[in-house]
Amino acid sequence: MPIESALTLPLIDHHCHGISPAELDLKQFQALFSESYRPPPPGTNEFQKPLGLAIRAFCAPLLDLEPHAAGEAYVERRLKLGAAEVNRRLMQAARLDCLIVDTGHRSNAIHTFEETGGLAGRPAHEVVRIEAILEEVAASGVSAENFAKAFADRLAERTAKAVGLKSIVAYRSTFAIPQTAPETSEVVTAVGAWMKAAAAAGRFRVSDPTIIRHGLWVGAEICRAKKLPLQLHVGFGDPDIYMHACDPTHFTDFIAAMEKWDVPITLLHNWPFLKEAQWMSEVFANVYYDAGVILNYGAAESERILREALQVGKFQKFLFSTDAFGLAELYYLGAFLFRRAFASILDDWIADGFMTARDADEIVRLVAQENARRIYPGV
Ligand SMILES: [Zn+2]
Repeated sequence: MPIESALTLPLIDHHCHGISPAELDLKQFQALFSESYRPPPPGTNEFQKPLGLAIRAFCAPLLDLEPHAAGEAYVERRLKLGAAEVNRRLMQAARLDCLIVDTGHRSNAIHTFEETGGLAGRPAHEVVRIEAILEEVAASGVSAENFAKAFADRLAERTAKAVGLKSIVAYRSTFAIPQTAPETSEVVTAVGAWMKAAAAAGRFRVSDPTIIRHGLWVGAEICRAKKLPLQLHVGFGDPDIYMHACDPTHFTDFIAAMEKWDVPITLLHNWPFLKEAQWMSEVFANVYYDAGVILNYGAAESERILREALQVGKFQKFLFSTDAFGLAELYYLGAFLFRRAFASILDDWIADGFMTARDADEIVRLVAQENARRIYPGV
């Protein structure tokens, strides 16, 4: 008997992004379920990998197609129904309780967080990405000397209604950097050099570890004062990452400092560092973690991946997320594959005598909603 609550309880998606309102052609659609900047090899397509197969198997029926419809037919049907209808169908079928949306990535190409929640028929809350604000302030024309104050003011303003902050330090400088707050003079020098380089390049993209550390600590102070969690991207992502240096245990000193401040740290995605994330959730009072979008990318293997994510991690600190970006399919599949895998795993544990159905229901409630509500205020 599958655990009913695992299959039915609405999920809080604690880390996701906006979806695209665009009418996507075959190439554009495939690009949105690839982490690569490169197309698939000639003569092949993205529908031939696990995630593409899952879209054909499980999303096609929601667009009135047979399961396993061809990728071309799927995209054709998508265009015929129109993005608005497709987005509504898939988002509502995901049965989310609410969405906690990171608004810092390509925000001009996607629906706002409120609109994305509206398509799901559910409330949405905002998480502010620190590096996006660093870049916005640097591009505003402020001087290097006035940067720190302008950034602190802008971040405070942008987070007035946010339920959390997020850093992509792992993407931009890796976790293998010094972890203390830099001196003011160091920040002024680093920002001056950044502005010069950015003016020449015509693009403000922050990657200097001093500036990133500055942003992180200013953000951490806001989290401490307002009792907000700080999300950290870990592991799996696009080619900007130096994967080996995205192991979250490199960031132990910062995470320990946040434990002293009572700031919850949510480690996002984590794959292939799921074991490291679980160990951190065991030893640090403030560490939470999820498995994120890797369940979508693993698709047919999602149950095995979720099993790995739950090997020793604390159930009372594990969170659900889709990490969906751009495609409503990624929201739907994220929730669908998670529910399916979670129910099956809990069933096995009950059958093996490790827990009762009542224990399982309690764990479902924690993971689906209560863990997130404990750390995200007002959710
Ligand atoms: Zn994300």
